[in-house]
Amino acid sequence: MKSLTRRDFLSKSTMLAGSAYPAMLALGLMKTVPAHAFDLERKPNGKKVIILGAGLAGMTAAYELNKLGYQCTVLEARERTGGRCWSIRNNSSHTETDRPPVTARFDEGLYFNAGPSRIPHNHELTLHYCKELGVPIQVYNNVNESAYFFAEGKGTLSNKKVRNREVHNDVRGYMAEMLAKSMDHGNLDAPFTKEDSQKVIEYLMAEGGLDADKLYKASARRGYIESPGAGDKPGRIADPHKLADILHSGLMDPDFYNVAEYTHELQMTMFQAVGGMDRIATALEKKIAPMIKKGAEVTQIHNVTEGVKITYKDQAGTQEMQADLCICTIPLPVLSNLDTNFSSDVSRAIDYIAYNQTGKIGLQFKRRFWEEDEHIYGGITHTNNELTQIFYPSNDYLDKKGILIGYYNFNEKAQQVAELSYADREKLALQKGRLIHPQYDQEFERSFSVSWHKTKYNMGGWAVYTSETRKNAYPALSKPDGHIYFAGEHLTYLNAWMAGAFESARSVVASIYGRITEAQIAYPTKSTKG
Ligand SMILES: Cc1cc2nc3c(=O)[nH]c(=O)nc-3n(C[C@H](O)[C@H](O)[C@H](O)COP(=O)(O)OP(=O)(O)OC[C@H]3O[C@@H](n4cnc5c(N)ncnc54)[C@H](O)[C@@H]3O)c2cc1C
Repeated sequence: MKSLTRRDFLSKSTMLAGSAYPAMLALGLMKTVPAHAFDLERKPNGKKVIILGAGLAGMTAAYELNKLGYQCTVLEARERTGGRCWSIRNNSSHTETDRPPVTARFDEGLYFNAGPSRIPHNHELTLHYCKELGVPIQVYNNVNESAYFFAEGKGTLSNKKVRNREVHNDVRGYMAEMLAKSMDHGNLDAPFTKEDSQKVIEYLMAEGGLDADKLYKASARRGYIESPGAGDKPGRIADPHKLADILHSGLMDPDFYNVAEYTHELQMTMFQAVGGMDRIATALEKKIAPMIKKGAEVTQIHNVTEGVKITYKDQAGTQEMQADLCICTIPLPVLSNLDTNFSSDVSRAIDYIAYNQTGKIGLQFKRRFWEEDEHIYGGITHTNNELTQIFYPSNDYLDKKGILIGYYNFNEKAQQVAELSYADREKLALQKGRLIHPQYDQEFERSFSVSWHKTKYNMGGWAVYTSETRKNAYPALSKPDGHIYFAGEHLTYLNAWMAGAFESARSVVASIYGRITEAQIAYPTKSTKG
């Protein structure tokens, strides 16, 4: 067997994950983001910095620059901070570009995260800011073998909900059986000694739950059809699904690949902010409240000889502001339509980098039937229809009511659903959802949906790079254009993660600090503090 070099492994995992970052972390070639307080020395300098956007990147930049003695103003178009770090509660209001504003009507105390809902345990910087800002976190249950796979189609197992554990254990068992048999017969083209083969076979037998004849038969791993109990109740296990049925029902299609367990960032343990992910944004806002101007929509960004000139609109009309430097965290699909005098490389990059389409709907139910009736506490049901995923809440277990994320979809599916009216999005979520949970009919109360690519001031879920845009567009935005610096999740290899916003903010702050103090600052800086 040809051995895999680190480079081979890296390029293969890059293709799979779309980014070399997780693979490099796994190989120990790169450190995880720093998990220490930012440690540059405060040197008051009288420099003024205008920061565009009060999402996590903009607010973190202001927070860190302020600590270092810079005078910051943050211009935010919305009447709230946080940008994508947004939890929907009663009275949250939302505007999509092709329809009037809407307001959420949920019971007090209930919420769902329209944007980020999970913090990976390896995103040390996100966890660091939760700690520094005093935001309590709790475990987020991302992987739940009790949740379902639901495939619409023609196979025997189609249009039925099948517990994740049944599919996972049956497929693992059959694969292990096939491999063990091949090894037994010496059919594998692998340079194993007899002893090695024996060890691998033993491993496969344990991994797949094979019997002494190396056959996969059902085991308790895939659950019981009659639970064990006292007296004469040993419990009853069903026969495994046939591999052909699993295959022909589409349950081995990409919609059901084991992403949650295998992707580096999605491996347990994961966390969430207690009470809603926007608690992180609220905690940052508290630190820098006097610097933020809400309801200030930036329309013009110009480099001028002595610095920058920013034009924005607020309730009072058109305003102008000048400063020495600017950090722009406005998402690129929005920035692309503003009046700017950026260099041609920068303007081209802004237009070329793509963003994805994505949407979520929160469904409020009278009763947590998924817990009471189906023993599902957190985790995700996967489907091959428009819903793509149903997320069960990892908070307030055993409470009376709760909000499910009724769909969380991407790209074409997100695009199709986004075109529907709000009422029709709800109709679709209920119609498809009740195929899995018939309780929807009795228990549903109300919904609220967000399509990020139609959301004013975002116009996309997150930046999606190809190797071409990473090579030809990313570098232009990774350095200042005159007096203007760019930050945000889109300017990292941590796209779609809050850690990207934090990381890029620190990187730009270090760069500005180096420019003003004329010091050589290598980023990430080394911790001198706790
Ligand atoms: C559906 C979804 C799920 C996600 N899931 C996760 C997750 O589970 N875990 C995780 O860690 N991350 C997740 N993320 C990613 C995370 O939310 C982002 O990476 C992060 O919040 C981006 O922060 P930012 O500051 O770069 O951008 P933003 O939050 O978009 O901030 C940009 C700010 O600029 C403002 N703005 C825009 N235009 C103007 C203008 N003209 N004038 C003034 N202000 C303007 C916006 O209003 C906004 O406040 C998810 C994102 C989405 C959309």
